[in-house]
Amino acid sequence: MNALLLIVALLPQQVLIATPRGQARIPVTAERGISAVAAILLSQPLGLVTSLDGSTIRATLAGVEFEFELDSPFFRYAGTAYAMVGAPYVARDTVFLPLHWLSDHVPRLLAARYRWDPGLARLDERAVSTAAAAVTAAAPSPSVPAIASTAAPNPITGLRLPHTIVVDPGHGGVDPGNPGLHFPRGLAEKDITLGIGRLLRAELVRRGLSVVLTRSTDTLIDLANRPLFCRADCDLFVSIHVNAMPAGRRQGTINGVETYFLSDAKTEDQQRVAQMENDALRFETVATVEGPLAYILRDLQLNEYLRESARLAELVQGKVAGIHPGEDRGVQQGPFMVLAAARRPSILVETGFATNRDDGAFLASATGQHRIASAIADGIVAYLVEFERKLAVGNGGSGESR
Ligand SMILES: [Zn+2]
Repeated sequence: MNALLLIVALLPQQVLIATPRGQARIPVTAERGISAVAAILLSQPLGLVTSLDGSTIRATLAGVEFEFELDSPFFRYAGTAYAMVGAPYVARDTVFLPLHWLSDHVPRLLAARYRWDPGLARLDERAVSTAAAAVTAAAPSPSVPAIASTAAPNPITGLRLPHTIVVDPGHGGVDPGNPGLHFPRGLAEKDITLGIGRLLRAELVRRGLSVVLTRSTDTLIDLANRPLFCRADCDLFVSIHVNAMPAGRRQGTINGVETYFLSDAKTEDQQRVAQMENDALRFETVATVEGPLAYILRDLQLNEYLRESARLAELVQGKVAGIHPGEDRGVQQGPFMVLAAARRPSILVETGFATNRDDGAFLASATGQHRIASAIADGIVAYLVEFERKLAVGNGGSGESR
């Protein structure tokens, strides 16, 4: 599937609910930065009925009830809490529910009854008996399972759920990345990112996590294809890069680490880094990446994973800045092609400047690469621990308390 289609699929203008009893079109809005589906009080035959009672929202689909709280990114179904990207809200006398609920959770929880077509933004209801629907209703969501209170935590991390991280060493093959002014002779950005990427895999595996590398050798993976490694069972996408300043007065002095998440560039400097990393597009052979970038950038605010990505970036940046000899350049935002289609919390770490002598030496050293990999792994674990804690809170701790 090409990256543009994936993005377009994320951003429908409206959702079509098709049932044996008729069809309804529901507008989709993104005024809170996430795609929310307008939960209008639909007529009973179409199936989706909502009610607002204090801050509790009940949405009923074909006789099955989902319970939401305003401004809480969880819903409750059959006694279990599930996490959503975004929270329900009220605007102009209308209840808005996150599109994530309708497009991801409903087809999974009620698999016998509903099918979601992302290309058409269409939810199809099949004519089956309510009894058949109820049988499959108990299947938990595979990507956001509820925390079983009996699951033993990992002794190193305290994590209770399995997680898969996609690690993306930037550039490779005919695309060297930045030439690495202060790397030992012959080394370029692509070699440093591969070194750190492999070490990061080892550090994450040591912490009990599953890892997929987009490349484990000196080869070029098209930017548009890298996020596709992050499929159904992937939780996070982390791309590794090395920064460089253009020739000029400041070239040798600027140093340090910064972590990006996908957004519009807010400053000239952010724009420079995004342009530099997106420049790998010129090495690519597939036609899918021509043109759509501008379209994607226009609609970045709709990326449902922005908020989670920002938090992941913050935690990783904090850990890496703690061990880095250079400056803490903070969390940045930029329109990175490689992050655009991940559909998961995703970040890009600029691990230092090849144009700075000290950064260059640190990045090219075994110790430096190891410390960076270990710090990124710590940041990822901190994020996942927080994420699991949120799920547990949404689950009412030990059971049914609300
Ligand atoms: Zn790069």
